Amino acid sequence: MPHPSSQRLMELYNEMQILLEREEKLRRETENLLQKARKVIDPRDEFNKWLRSLEGKTLKQKQYEYQDGKCAYCKETLRFEDAVVHHIIPISKLGRKANKPENFKLLHPSCNLKIGTQIIDFD
Ligand SMILES: [Zn+2]
Repeated sequence: MPHPSSQRLMELYNEMQILLEREEKLRRETENLLQKARKVIDPRDEFNKWLRSLEGKTLKQKQYEYQDGKCAYCKETLRFEDAVVHHIIPISKLGRKANKPENFKLLHPSCNLKIGTQIIDFD
């Protein structure tokens, strides 16, 4: 087999450089698109956005009244400003389906931390 000329080697090398640059550009574009997609479909983002909406705030208020101003876990008094919305079945298990009011309880932040992603029977 004849050796490729150094001219041919240079050409191949240049082609390879162009392909690598193209690959790098595609990789970056893909990563950007994926990041955007994740923001759109991340159920946690979706939930936080919903919680800031009028509907979310209203539902949190209703749930607070329903729980009689008490933490659903330790049953102690809970200030509305402190109340965190706990998902009974966690987002990590159910994805966006976890984001419905029947799946919410209001808790102290510390109680929420204690529970983590354990599934608790609140009643
Ligand atoms: Zn509590």
